[in-house]
Amino acid sequence: MREISLKVAATSRILIESGLSRALSGAFAGREAFTAAAAFVVTDENVSPLYLDRVAAGLQSMGWRVASRTLPPGEQTKSFDSLLTLYKDFFDQKLDRSSIVVALGGGVIGDLTGFAAATYMRGTRLLQVPTTLLAQVDAAIGGKVAVNHLGIKNSIGTFYQPELVIIDPEVLSTLPGSELPNGFAEISKAALVADKDLFEILEKDDSLPALPGHEMLEEIIYRAVAVKVNVVQQDERESGRRRVLNFGHTIGHALEESSAFEGLSHGEAVAVGMVLETRLARLLKVTDAQLADRIEALLARLGFKVHLHGASPEDIARLTYLDKKAKGSRLVFALPVKLGSVEVFEDVDPAALRRVLEEAAS
Ligand code: ADP
Ligand code: ZN
Repeated sequence: MREISLKVAATSRILIESGLSRALSGAFAGREAFTAAAAFVVTDENVSPLYLDRVAAGLQSMGWRVASRTLPPGEQTKSFDSLLTLYKDFFDQKLDRSSIVVALGGGVIGDLTGFAAATYMRGTRLLQVPTTLLAQVDAAIGGKVAVNHLGIKNSIGTFYQPELVIIDPEVLSTLPGSELPNGFAEISKAALVADKDLFEILEKDDSLPALPGHEMLEEIIYRAVAVKVNVVQQDERESGRRRVLNFGHTIGHALEESSAFEGLSHGEAVAVGMVLETRLARLLKVTDAQLADRIEALLARLGFKVHLHGASPEDIARLTYLDKKAKGSRLVFALPVKLGSVEVFEDVDPAALRRVLEEAAS
């Protein structure tokens, strides 16, 4: 027998810098590898009037031909219909594999555009410019891209790393305030997974979930991104270590599904998920009371209220079993064990889960 291993790895550069246009031209300047004839920007109707011109100007300053597509905002846009629209645009614009596709927007635009870029001609170059706090610290990092299909969120997708991610904290100034807690839920998760100091920064900042002072904001984003980068680097495709990032998401996804993704944002679902999974950890004696109290206190201060959003404990328990990350019929949970450390538990007692859910419902 003869054996040869083929190892390939893509590198994603992630830049955190204020001023989109400057950040863009700065990122490309002097880099031969970034030579492209054409760029195509995908964005939504809210983001387009605010930032499309600046992004287009930054790309044009490199001498590239720039075209764009503006789609309606919202989760419905993450669909096969939108994909077909984008593929048609890409063909019309004669994009090839050296062209750059730019996702300018929140997680919806990032996931959709990333999937289009991954599949068009087996992959064009992808640039993520996330404009929501959630997308900056989570969705745009790590290469998960997808669309929703047959009513199932993210059911068709792949892993595709962007060549470059540009995070401009200044664009958050126009983000509706109601979107901020969403981002802070994921930031809190990152802190609990692997950055004790970040948790303490959040704990001490009385202004949250309003945006902290600029310096602090950049620091907070940087730290949350670093946690995700470190975890993904160890396990890109979520077979092992990456599962710690599911803290709050097992119950969180069940809540989102039971609400049919209406009236409950991802951040809210994850925040409630983190509180309930922390209570579960407490019951299983893997977390102590002091840590559990600190987690609940921070999430309460970020404005999250713990309830099942109309779902019954039975519904949530059933959906938890159906979670795509549950192995067979065993209950798998990522649970906090100490501040800045989450571990995966593979065989959680269903009775403990029921007890936590029933208490939350009463
Ligand atoms: P998420 O990143 O939370 O998945 P979406 O992509 O659905 O979110 O974006 C949330 C909403 O915020 C959308 O209506 C989108 O158009 C809007 N939006 C995104 N970024 C900005 C921004 N920087 N300023 C104003 N509105 C924005
Ligand atoms: Zn999440």
